[in-house]
Amino acid sequence: MADTTEKNTATPDDTIFGKIIRGEIKTEFLYKDDKCVAFKDINPVAPIHILIVPIKFITQISEAKEEDEKLLGHLLLVAKKVAEDQKLDKGYRLVINNGKEGQQSVYHLHIHLIGGKQLSWPPC
Ligand code: 5GP
Repeated sequence: MADTTEKNTATPDDTIFGKIIRGEIKTEFLYKDDKCVAFKDINPVAPIHILIVPIKFITQISEAKEEDEKLLGHLLLVAKKVAEDQKLDKGYRLVINNGKEGQQSVYHLHIHLIGGKQLSWPPC
């Protein structure tokens, strides 16, 4: 089980993203299908900062299973589509933070789509 740092969860297998997905917290979805949703990050680190979140509860990428292969591919293609919708034609970055040293704070798998400015590298 994940090292859950987000404490204000309803159940051990739920997070703030679960509440957003279920509509318990009103959120504008920039994309939604039967497998995932995309919405703006509440604390953006760039002009465009969007989270792509699977509806299936997977705590983090290191907990993904073989059976999640198709879903993980889908998330990347949705991230690409959302980037196109946002007209990020000059480039963007996709990020998955994993675990404590990866600075993950919400233990429901998500991809960060970050762009809208010249990004720098390395990130740390
Ligand atoms: P992590 O640190 O787990 O990779 O990323 C979690 C992200 O979720 C952070 O960038 C944080 O700003 C964002 N976040 C946390 N709580 C909320 C929320 O209630 N709504 C939205 N839209 N984003 C959130």
